[in-house]
Amino acid sequence: MQNQSKKKMVCFDSQACLKCFSCAIGCSTENRVRLQRDKNYNIEKSVSEKLDYYNYITPVYSETGTFPNVLAVTALKHCKHCSIPQCLEICPTKAITKKDSGAVVIDEDLCVGCQACRDACPYDIPQYSPETGRSYKCILCYDRLDAGLRTACDVACPSVAIFSGDEDYVKAEAQKRVENYTKIFDKPFIAYGIDEINSQVGTLQYITIAPVENQDEYLIPKSPRSFTATARDVIKVGGVIAGAATLAVVGLHARHWKKNRENSPFNNKEEK
Ligand code: SF4
Ligand code: SF4
Ligand code: SF4
Repeated sequence: MQNQSKKKMVCFDSQACLKCFSCAIGCSTENRVRLQRDKNYNIEKSVSEKLDYYNYITPVYSETGTFPNVLAVTALKHCKHCSIPQCLEICPTKAITKKDSGAVVIDEDLCVGCQACRDACPYDIPQYSPETGRSYKCILCYDRLDAGLRTACDVACPSVAIFSGDEDYVKAEAQKRVENYTKIFDKPFIAYGIDEINSQVGTLQYITIAPVENQDEYLIPKSPRSFTATARDVIKVGGVIAGAATLAVVGLHARHWKKNRENSPFNNKEEK
């Protein structure tokens, strides 16, 4: 049984990943169990439905380099549970909270589906469901971690590419792996999120091990930026200027929002 009071953490080790996507299935299944627990929604019924918005891990494939030196990467896109969650700060209905464990959680009952959280998120994470009119994202399995259990994605992973638990344990294991990979492959690796990323994101509770030179392909950019937060910082500068700035920001924001939607793997026709 793990320590109940400490902060919790999850790590995805890209070098140990087999691309079997059991983690994504484990996550989706766990969320259907939660649906039965919290909403009394029949689990036999839910497993026969798509319920895309309960898929909190999305594999994203990319290629980099030129033939014959092409690198194919499958990154896992999921919430990183920032210590400074821009999604939480912008939510107009206070539907997003940060638990003592560090998990950032959307309360479905308070969410009005405005999607401000997604626009503010430097990693473009919350998914909007046109079916329910609400936004969704990984909850760090806070209920499981608080009970001393591992996250569902960790339990499902056959190669220990995902591991979870007390912050001290996950950090130590991640640092050990980073040192080993750096030695074995003779190039730098990072446990992205152990150290502060920047002043908008802070540190992360769901960290990623990857080669530094391929950070972008693994969706862990060196300088993630939230457009709306940057705009808000500018607006804070002055009263009169703020009015004009707000108008300009609204225009830019709309363009950014449209571009994000068009490029997003979650894009669908209903959202446009
Ligand atoms: S990754 Fe995005 S959705 Fe997750 S806590 Fe950070 S800002 Fe919020
Ligand atoms: S921590 Fe839980 S909710 Fe988050 S991706 Fe893993 S299984 Fe899904
Ligand atoms: S379950 Fe583990 S090995 Fe399979 S895709 Fe997920 S992280 Fe990779």
